Amino acid sequence: MTMRIGLGTDVHRLAPGRPLVIGGVPIDAEFGAEGHSDADVLFHAITDAVLGALALGDIGTHFPNTDERWRGAASDKFLAYAASLAAEHGFVVANVDSVVEIERPRLRPYIDAMRANIAAVLGVDISRVSVKAKSGEGVDAVGEGRALRAQAVVLLENASGSAGPASPS
Ligand code: MG
Repeated sequence: MTMRIGLGTDVHRLAPGRPLVIGGVPIDAEFGAEGHSDADVLFHAITDAVLGALALGDIGTHFPNTDERWRGAASDKFLAYAASLAAEHGFVVANVDSVVEIERPRLRPYIDAMRANIAAVLGVDISRVSVKAKSGEGVDAVGEGRALRAQAVVLLENASGSAGPASPS
């Protein structure tokens, strides 16, 4: 069994007049996340974790924010691309754990919808995907409501579940 672990983190400023989309779920809020794409902080962190597990750079390597193709892009594209790279290298996602930090609103009502979206993009059962939410406790940029942050770890395992690439029979 070959396993690979990856870490991803992301932060976006919050500003009025922007949509707030986290894990592909539109969130009812008076502020949204600034960014070149749809600024989905959770999809970005998980994408970086998958790419990190593969040691294949990061989201900026594959999707430069100078590229007009990605302006306003829905970030499930980025995660789907990372998942396809994992599959090309013979890996499937064993599990994902993640944390989203935002001062408000409380994300609990949206968590299962985020998990379902992430699981669908990765092609795994929802039981393999964890999303947790925390407030910033009033301190730092998150606590002051100026930004939101996400962190994710992803474990990949080789698709065959065996010790290495399948040998021809
Ligand atoms: Mg980002």
